[in-house]
Amino acid sequence: MQELRGKVISEKIKDEIVKKISSNPSAGKYELAIIRIGDNKDQITYEASATKKLSECGINVKSYCFDGNIDNAEFQKSFKKINDNENVRGILVLKPLPKQIDELTLSSLIDEKKDLDGISPLNFHKVALGLDGNLPCTAKAVVEILKGYKIELAGKNVAIVNRSLVVGKSLALLLLKEDATVTICHSKTSNLKEITSSADIVVFAIGRPKAFDASFIKEGAVVIDVSINIDENGKLCGDCDFESISKKAGAITPVPGGVGAVTTIILGKHFIQNI
Ligand code: NAP
Repeated sequence: MQELRGKVISEKIKDEIVKKISSNPSAGKYELAIIRIGDNKDQITYEASATKKLSECGINVKSYCFDGNIDNAEFQKSFKKINDNENVRGILVLKPLPKQIDELTLSSLIDEKKDLDGISPLNFHKVALGLDGNLPCTAKAVVEILKGYKIELAGKNVAIVNRSLVVGKSLALLLLKEDATVTICHSKTSNLKEITSSADIVVFAIGRPKAFDASFIKEGAVVIDVSINIDENGKLCGDCDFESISKKAGAITPVPGGVGAVTTIILGKHFIQNI
């Protein structure tokens, strides 16, 4: 059984970013903008860790923080300024947004090339058409891991247990582009085990600690565990019962140290497309 460690992949992507930044004398003037509205603790923590990770690659990261009560029109005005700034080459909007902010309009305002976490409908449309476009970093991280570990995707049956926009639907588009045959499952899927246990690759992302054991996969399957949960002892874990599944899987991502270790660096990968 092979452990698919995210760090191996994120280090490779980091090298790619550092190379691109250091070969461009103007890179320092280009900015990766992180936009936060309000003082959500999780967002502040994520902002700090993303800033650290991306700055270490040589990216000029700048945070734009707005009062949590800012009204929609005022925020949109400031957002447009950031979006139109020639030196801003990438934008990450931290979510969830306060309820007065019109998320749908915001996602269509963002320049799709600067859209680092795939919120623009144009990016979805492009990928749906089989073109290149930025999709949410988590979905992209899964594909980077599979491709980075040279796991064959063309012609393979992939089951994804999640139908959210940021994970299941985006990942399905990316995998279709790689010629995989994709089945999306969700909480109303009646024959879940039948689908997952016949798939070559299974992606679990339901957000429930150790919900899946070896009976949910076939012998030798590749298992990607996207979820980051807290178990009964307060420790981080995924959706998979790692002990059980790792005895039957051909390869599996650990939690922590799997998908989560790659997600943030994808922001940098998207950013360097614009410098
Ligand atoms: P979400 O919007 O709550 O989606 C959960 C999905 O799981 C839904 O499609 C839901 O089905 C499905 N589901 C729930 N219970 C199920 C069950 N018993 N059987 C089959 N399907 C079931 O969550 P999300 O934002 O996509 O995130 C999913 C997980 O990924 C979370 O644990 C989150 O922490 C993790 N995550 C990790 C990263 C990373 O970097 N590693 C980044 C983002 C998110 P319905 O649609 O029918 O409700």
